[in-house]
Amino acid sequence: MDQKTMKALVYHGPSQISLDDIPVPQIKQPTDAILKVTTSTICGSDIHIIHGYIPSVQPGTVVGHEFCGEIVELGSSIGGDFKVGDRVAVSCIVHCGKCFYCLNDQPQYCEVGRGTEGWSNSMLFGNYINGCQAEYIRVPLAETGMYKIPEGLDDLDVLFVGDILSTGYFGAEKCNIQHGDTVVVWGSGPVGMCAMASARLWSPAQIIAVDLDQNRLETAKKNGVCDIIINSGKEDAATKVMELTNGRGADCAIEAIGLVPTIDSAMKTMRVGGRLEVIGFGTPTYELSMADLFMKNLSVGSGLVPANHMGSLIELIHKGKLNLRFLATHTKPLNDIVEGYDIFGNKKDNCIKWVVTPYEE
Ligand SMILES: [Zn+2]
Ligand SMILES: [Zn+2]
Repeated sequence: MDQKTMKALVYHGPSQISLDDIPVPQIKQPTDAILKVTTSTICGSDIHIIHGYIPSVQPGTVVGHEFCGEIVELGSSIGGDFKVGDRVAVSCIVHCGKCFYCLNDQPQYCEVGRGTEGWSNSMLFGNYINGCQAEYIRVPLAETGMYKIPEGLDDLDVLFVGDILSTGYFGAEKCNIQHGDTVVVWGSGPVGMCAMASARLWSPAQIIAVDLDQNRLETAKKNGVCDIIINSGKEDAATKVMELTNGRGADCAIEAIGLVPTIDSAMKTMRVGGRLEVIGFGTPTYELSMADLFMKNLSVGSGLVPANHMGSLIELIHKGKLNLRFLATHTKPLNDIVEGYDIFGNKKDNCIKWVVTPYEE
């Protein structure tokens, strides 16, 4: 049998990527599925990967972990009602659904997925396998990672469910928003805006977005995911947050950048008893003020996305309660992906999300 090839974006070492011809993936385990990638994205973590910051991603690997696809082949042990031709959204977390962590709502620490192969969970635990910036992809443990796209929805409706929308939802869910709360989201990038859209589901009184990028702030406001915007390059965000909360500070905050200055600002502007979730990852260390934590009874959390609510997020999208389509500012075929890394990675041309459609001959 002659080996078929496909186009794929391959990481060759720090700052070295190219669109190469490589073999089309094949089923290796009975739990695998092969998908034709119908839509994918470039994620912020991919930018970390191509700069060489994630050593578990070896040179020669295809990058990408946020995508939708069409099933072209199913491993023999895949049950459910999946069949060839189904359109699916896929979790960035490879997980078995049966181990201790999977059964305790932490599939990102799946004992099978983290130890063997995967995408997002393997960035931390090793063995990052070929991803979705390609014409085809092999999905391990596919039965638990694939979600059928309902009739009436297209790829773009559900594209972000498997990664950034799950991440934003995770932050909003963990900070335990109550009706009438003030939620401050530090960072109005794609993940920050997903956190704002998710926070809305708990009916806070106001969602305040803070960023340096006026275009991103206005995009969030215009699309209804936040109520008030603060450009921290033009005014002192901490002072403004205190003004907007009767001098008490935020009930809840989601930090979607992961850098020391924004975590500091978030900590400083929490009300007594407030809840802060840090869902951005940019600094490996942060010095916590026990005085703040103890004297203000703060709850501070952080963590890697579990992506364990994909089914309900798809349902919320289907019923019109969530819509993140506006994040897709740039949509180009796989042919242009190297340019996409430059434009998305360097935030050129007001790019919020770079969406990749199939290769065009
Ligand atoms: Zn990602
Ligand atoms: Zn598991």
